[in-house]
Amino acid sequence: MAMDKTDLTLSVVIPMYNEEAVIGLLAGRLRPVLDGLNEPYEVVAVDDGSSDTTFPTLVGLRRSWPQLRVVRLRRNSGHQAALTAGLFRARGAYVVSIDADLQDPPEKIPEMLSLAREKQLDIVYGVRNDRTTDTRFKRWTASGYYRMMRRLVGNGVPSNAGDFRLLSQATIDVLRQLPERTGVLRLLVPWVGFPSGEVVYAREERAAGRTKYPLHKMLLLAADSVTSFSAAPLRIATLLGIGGVVLCTALAVIGFFAYLTSSTVSGWASLYVAVLFLGAVQLLCLGLLGEYVGRIYTAVQGRPSYFIGYDSAEEEPTQAEPV
Ligand code: UDP
Ligand code: MG
Repeated sequence: MAMDKTDLTLSVVIPMYNEEAVIGLLAGRLRPVLDGLNEPYEVVAVDDGSSDTTFPTLVGLRRSWPQLRVVRLRRNSGHQAALTAGLFRARGAYVVSIDADLQDPPEKIPEMLSLAREKQLDIVYGVRNDRTTDTRFKRWTASGYYRMMRRLVGNGVPSNAGDFRLLSQATIDVLRQLPERTGVLRLLVPWVGFPSGEVVYAREERAAGRTKYPLHKMLLLAADSVTSFSAAPLRIATLLGIGGVVLCTALAVIGFFAYLTSSTVSGWASLYVAVLFLGAVQLLCLGLLGEYVGRIYTAVQGRPSYFIGYDSAEEEPTQAEPV
């Protein structure tokens, strides 16, 4: 990786997956803000293996916007991986990550930067003032998610802070050195625990195109978040086991007295239920174990979570030409 010495003060990292519909709008709002800073900057647009015209559009835009740097992942690797790829390659002293769909207002970037400089902060979270633009379902699931994460990671996890935030190069260096391939960044950042501040903003509607976060991706993110920070769910198995022993002892005592006092063959229903229940509990616990074993397996394999196919900041494209 060519990491030439540059004196960029700011990098703006934008993961993009099939975002051809918003690139023009995004550039129209982002560029005036960044040009207005009068400081050397780069915009790192990470094309997460899009199947639409996102990549050629970015390359075309670069001709009239030299500060735009285009990185392409060889295949779709997911939001967190694309974000990580961008952060790890960003060269600015401060790095802001922002979604491509203009839900996070680029106009807040100067405020984040000046707050970080004034108060010597390493992290500035973009915190949403409300969630009125979200569906009731998304609000409900999000509030549960953040409550759970605060219990696991600690109180440093701000509510309603997504991936719109500023990080210092020092913070990113810590993240680079973690052996984890792709962690859940919005948890790893508070875990690093460097001095942090907040900038409040109103989250807007997606400017164009459709969400790239269907329900199953939300669930995966939640599962990754829990298992990467806690082994507590494994204890559920033990607790259920203890509960089962107590319950069975009680049932055995009842059964014994029933045997002494009556001679009818009853109780098949309770047996049936008990067998089904225990079977279900055992499967649940096996599944839980499997979650962790799977993650250990992935970690041991140590495969990279993304491949860089192209980076316009490098003199020559790596290995193969971009497709
Ligand atoms: N994204 C990505 N790879 C993916 C899915 C999403 O790089 O596989 C990017 C997407 O282009 C956007 C950001 O992640 O810039 C957030 O996605 P989106 O806005 O669709 O999520 P939502 O705001 O609906 O939760
Ligand atoms: Mg969005």
